[in-house]
Amino acid sequence: MIQNMDQLAQAILAGEKTGHRRALAKAITLIESKLDEHRQQAQALLNTLLQHTGKSLRVGITGIPGVGKSTFIETLGLYLIAQGQKVAVLAVDPSSPLRGGSILGDKTRMEQLSREPKAFIRPTPSEGALGGVAQHTRETLLVCEAAGYDVILVETVGVGQSEYQVAAMVDFFLVLMIPNAGDELQGIKRGIMELADSLVINKTDGESLALAKQTQGYYQSALHLLNTGTTWQPQVLTCSAMENKGIEAVWTTIEDYEQQNKDNGQFAIKRAQQNSQHLDALIQALLTQKFHQNEAVKTQLPDLRQAVIDHEMTAYDAAVALLKLV
Ligand code: GDP
Repeated sequence: MIQNMDQLAQAILAGEKTGHRRALAKAITLIESKLDEHRQQAQALLNTLLQHTGKSLRVGITGIPGVGKSTFIETLGLYLIAQGQKVAVLAVDPSSPLRGGSILGDKTRMEQLSREPKAFIRPTPSEGALGGVAQHTRETLLVCEAAGYDVILVETVGVGQSEYQVAAMVDFFLVLMIPNAGDELQGIKRGIMELADSLVINKTDGESLALAKQTQGYYQSALHLLNTGTTWQPQVLTCSAMENKGIEAVWTTIEDYEQQNKDNGQFAIKRAQQNSQHLDALIQALLTQKFHQNEAVKTQLPDLRQAVIDHEMTAYDAAVALLKLV
């Protein structure tokens, strides 16, 4: 039985020793809990672990349903484990806070990888927290780093804001595609192309080989038109996650990116910006929460809202009046 947060932290930091996974699962349960007491315990734990975080490589992976995300992550994960690395897989599932259902979590995924002692796969949290589901994932990511995972793969379906949230917590953001020239056909939003540190065209096998090459050419020219404002030129790669082809080249590209950005200082700058922006987002979320918990606000907001709807008051004046109550 783990008695307190210090003990839990020690168990997590102990790496591969007995009880490690259980400690990790317990920590994540606290992180995902809705109880204030658990949140406080989770924060105490994170504060202890913080100095042991930051050493892993964080990679975000997105793509429409069916593109092959779980197959790709399984193949990549097994490849990394064969290279002696420990791999954690986390997910940001955009559908869960809205509809209660899950896009990512409703099928058996990554069966082979999940049996590997050096892999840790965390199913999607079922509900959002302050700052969204991504807040849980960020904190879980830190715990996994403290537990010694070398690579953290964060997966999401490119729906809503989830890909922005994931891109904001990883070092390298990878967009998976299928052989099929034309963004409309792939449901690709312009913004995603700008987030991508590289594109990977999966399912480059069988009858799709020629189309995959065509798709590669299409996106290569599309990406050249985008000015990313950094020295890194996003690559367009092809692979077959199912046939385990091209995975090594994908990983080499990610390692090249890491090396280049560590050499020119961009790696640390990006992480610093991410942490700083995350703080701003949390301040905003906490302020909003505090505002809505205020008793006077709770009483007056409905009336003022109606006044705004009925053109009796400007929205600005109503907002200022409500803020004065806090
Ligand atoms: P996800 O919804 O993005 O996680 O996609 P899945 O990994 O579940 O894959 C969707 C379907 O595509 C499954 O039937 C996979 O077997 C298939 N698939 C995944 N990767 C490949 C690939 O590289 N080549 C081919 N031909 N099929 C693949």
